[in-house]
Amino acid sequence: MPHKDQKKGITNTIKWREEHPKKLETPQERRERYELNKEKEKEQYRLWRLNNPEKVRLQNERRKKRYHENIEKEREAGRLRHRKLMENETHKAEKRKKVKEWVKQNPEKAKAIQRRYRARKIQVKENYTATDEQYTLELFEYKCFCCGSTHDLCIDHVYPLSAGYALTRKNACVLCNVCNGGKSNKMPEEFYSSDKLTELFFVLSPPYAS
Ligand SMILES: [Zn+2]
Repeated sequence: MPHKDQKKGITNTIKWREEHPKKLETPQERRERYELNKEKEKEQYRLWRLNNPEKVRLQNERRKKRYHENIEKEREAGRLRHRKLMENETHKAEKRKKVKEWVKQNPEKAKAIQRRYRARKIQVKENYTATDEQYTLELFEYKCFCCGSTHDLCIDHVYPLSAGYALTRKNACVLCNVCNGGKSNKMPEEFYSSDKLTELFFVLSPPYAS
């Protein structure tokens, strides 16, 4: 019975340790002993590995797990650092400038990225149906919320897709093409006046609505 053998093994180990108190070595001592008999130790380890493939597999798995756990921790720390930095307006402005320069130097790459971005936009829009679009147009009386124009109207993300906001009834506004170009990826707080902003939020979720 393997269980009984295991128990016996543990008992033997304890007994052996009690009988050989001096043979218990610290990791430091163990390392020193390894350095002294390096070649012999290496050979022994090689043989052990050959004879214990299952133990080697488990060892590798534990090693891999430890590595990935640490990588997750590293990434989380990186994300935190980034968030902290982006709260700094000067840093943000500098980043933006750098991005602009990069786009100038890599026009083809930038175009490809923009194409992917648009594809993503279309994907997000799938959840926002034609009925939703009709709802938004009626809500804003078929007029640009910004300038009142009735020409070249489009549905605009109040909170931009680039910041991760999907198009929903509560995040959709009607703008003409010109105003939409001006709003671009700006947050509503950056684009509208305070009065306009209040009006916008009132239209989107009036306090009397359930
Ligand atoms: Zn307009």
